[in-house]
Amino acid sequence: MSDCIFCAIVDGDIPGRIVHETEHTLAFLDANPLAPGHTLVVPKEHHARLDEVPADAAADLFAAVNDLVPRVEAAVDADATNVGINNGPAAGQEVDHVHVHIVPRFEGDGGSP
Ligand code: 5GP
Ligand code: ZN
Repeated sequence: MSDCIFCAIVDGDIPGRIVHETEHTLAFLDANPLAPGHTLVVPKEHHARLDEVPADAAADLFAAVNDLVPRVEAAVDADATNVGINNGPAAGQEVDHVHVHIVPRFEGDGGSP
């Protein structure tokens, strides 16, 4: 089993609530969601930082994010989303496998993620 929790989800070694999959990308629900529908989108290959992701995998990653944002919003009837990456520990990255957060937002929910 991998010592990276997201690699373990990609490899099927631990369960993930998977919502989308492409050649290079997997999306699954966050285990501790900031809002209902909080989704994480990851390259299947392990890279710690965004600039380490090969161009084809990065293009696939962001195409998947683009596909997912309206689907996530529709799934939880959100008004908007925060889409972001904590890129490095000093930026708040706790899992050192690149991941894009899609956090649904609701009118009047008051506060940033
Ligand atoms: P970071 O702070 O690294 O940008 O965000 C890591 C995210 O991964 C957090 O939102 C956290 O809730 C989520 N997370 C941590 N461990 C797991 C896990 O085992 N499964 C899933 N689905 N999400 C996780
Ligand atoms: Zn990993």
